[in-house]
Amino acid sequence: MTERRRRVMLKLSGEAFGGGSLGVNPDVVGAIAREIAEAAKDVEVAIVVGGGNFFRGAELSQRGMDRGRADYMGMLGTVMNALALQDFLEQAGAQVRVQSAIQMTQVAEPYIPLRAERHLEKGRVVIFGAGAGLPYFSTDTVAAQRALEISADEVLVAKNGVDGVYSDDPRRNPGAHKLDEVSYQDALVKGLKVVDSTAFSLCMDNRMPMIVFGMEPQGNIARAIRGERIGTRVSA
Ligand code: UDP
Repeated sequence: MTERRRRVMLKLSGEAFGGGSLGVNPDVVGAIAREIAEAAKDVEVAIVVGGGNFFRGAELSQRGMDRGRADYMGMLGTVMNALALQDFLEQAGAQVRVQSAIQMTQVAEPYIPLRAERHLEKGRVVIFGAGAGLPYFSTDTVAAQRALEISADEVLVAKNGVDGVYSDDPRRNPGAHKLDEVSYQDALVKGLKVVDSTAFSLCMDNRMPMIVFGMEPQGNIARAIRGERIGTRVSA
């Protein structure tokens, strides 16, 4: 029997893909893709992409749109990011499959977890688009759920502009410091919101470890994939 390789679930925020503006910045996505393609030679990598560079349902609904419809727009944004990432990963030499939680068979496979696992075993990167296909969910929570369903070893949450979980909100409390480790329980009780509370509680209940780390400096995504200790480790 061959030894099972490390398998990770990487969550990439959509905001990063835009490089600070609406849409996809090819330079940014290209650089992220090259890091992932290199690290994915030794590790099985599944990815959930966010969509914050296009739409966030909660924000659109605050400005008058129906929440469910706005959330579907948000999910469609994640599919565009998934396709962009697929393209740049392939250019970097990786084999990639995109699976979508909303059926759109011309551009992506449907979400079939067993097939996703088979792709991973064959060394393909799998990108999950369209979130969970359900309004009122976030892609952080989807990353936790997919990680559990495909038996990943860890969820790696790559953040834009923050390098881990802090003892308090660093924007409001200058005395806040970065934590190397924290329990889900503490993160939830103290309201440390760098990752959604639903994602934290799903991982806590199912003992799935999570690493929260910053995308910067360059190389961090590859480090996290390889299992180097960066950012904050959140565990049950
Ligand atoms: N979304 C959703 N259900 C899901 C995943 C995402 O409704 O299962 C919508 C939601 O409107 C969300 C948007 O898609 O605001 C983009 O996802 P997210 O905000 O998680 O992206 P990120 O902040 O990671 O870029």
